[in-house]
Amino acid sequence: MNLCVRSVAVSAALFAASLLPAHAEFDVVTLKKAIETSLANEYPKLDALYKELHAHPELAFQEMKTAARLAAEMRALGFEVTEGVGKTGLVAIYKNGDGPTIMVRTELDGLPMEEKTGLDYASRDKTNWSGREVFVAHSCGHDIHMTSWVGTAKTLLGLKDRWSGTLMFIAQPAEEIVAGARAMLADGLFTRFPKPDIALALHDGAFAHGTVFYRTGAGSSAADGLEITFHGRGGHGAAPHTTIDPVGIAARFIVEVQSVISREKDPSEFGVVSFGAIHGGTAPNIIPDSVQLSGTIRSYKPEVRAKLHAGIERTAKAAAAMSGAPAPDIKILEGTKSVMNDPDVVTAVAGVLKAALGDKFRISPPGTASEDFSEFGGAGVPSMMFNIGVYDQERIDAARNGTGPPIPSNHSPLFAPVPKPTIETGVTAMTLAVLGVFEQKARRK
Ligand SMILES: [Zn+2]
Ligand SMILES: [Zn+2]
Repeated sequence: MNLCVRSVAVSAALFAASLLPAHAEFDVVTLKKAIETSLANEYPKLDALYKELHAHPELAFQEMKTAARLAAEMRALGFEVTEGVGKTGLVAIYKNGDGPTIMVRTELDGLPMEEKTGLDYASRDKTNWSGREVFVAHSCGHDIHMTSWVGTAKTLLGLKDRWSGTLMFIAQPAEEIVAGARAMLADGLFTRFPKPDIALALHDGAFAHGTVFYRTGAGSSAADGLEITFHGRGGHGAAPHTTIDPVGIAARFIVEVQSVISREKDPSEFGVVSFGAIHGGTAPNIIPDSVQLSGTIRSYKPEVRAKLHAGIERTAKAAAAMSGAPAPDIKILEGTKSVMNDPDVVTAVAGVLKAALGDKFRISPPGTASEDFSEFGGAGVPSMMFNIGVYDQERIDAARNGTGPPIPSNHSPLFAPVPKPTIETGVTAMTLAVLGVFEQKARRK
């Protein structure tokens, strides 16, 4: 372990005292300069890679060419690459002496939608998706992640006298359908390959490039689907006493279930149950036989999630029982867990990124979207995901004060990161994050 090559007073002063012990000599300023030099040489190749990936996206579990392209990049760097892990995923391992195994994850997939950015490298590709021909676009920026991932690998190899251990770079399929992480785990990601000590990932977002957002604890929500069918006994609307009215049961349930949120869940914890669809009946004067509801359950903490699931089930059964109706059919469709940023990993990463980026490294509120990077944390690997911005600050300011158009978010057909500063930030932040966690592990040996 050789991170303390030189001790520069200024770098020590830059560390937040609470983040690193006083003896820390990890020289962020020198490392950042080395990364900048490496990027100045490598960026033209990364730019070409990004534009190629952007122009030819592939959908979940169809990422054959994308995976092959990344496999070739990693093999050329000297990584040992295994393809076809979790269908189209790949695992690239690089050993550099004794030390921990640090995993860095990128996603591979694009979205079934038409890109409308008008960029000269915009995607016009189409593919078959669920029996239909659809356009494909990298409108979530997974191409930014892949390029930053390759750039980080290159940069870390250029700095390999500054760290010791194993790099485990994985490219995960099918994030957009939250299935790829589980597919890789089921295919032996942590048994056929070393189980990493720490896992890191980044995601881009619609804010200024050069800025990195992070948080400790929940970084995205757990999302579960909910389908309930209330059964009754149909009949004439004028003679309700001859029926069991499932419309009334469903209405009572929808109101009552909110008391699971307000009366059973800790009010300081996030939790939501919403119904987006109700189907029942055909005419004003006919009480139907059944009513179907579907909804979504969102939470951050596993204990809150379990409480919501149990409360929904109990309330639905009770609502039916109150009317003497048969038990309802209740299906909770388990989605993905929330990303939990491990406090220890955040401390290591934040110490370095704060020193490197100053006030461009900021705490964000938790997101309510979902992300299957959570599966790796769920499998017992302390992990952290942080976010990088993609737009010019002037564009953000103009949108904010009404002098420019609104900022297109991820999944918008107009989502268009500015490649150079975005990828440079991705590579710089991820390289420093990896070095930061290697350093933390080495210091604790
Ligand atoms: Zn997405
Ligand atoms: Zn995404």
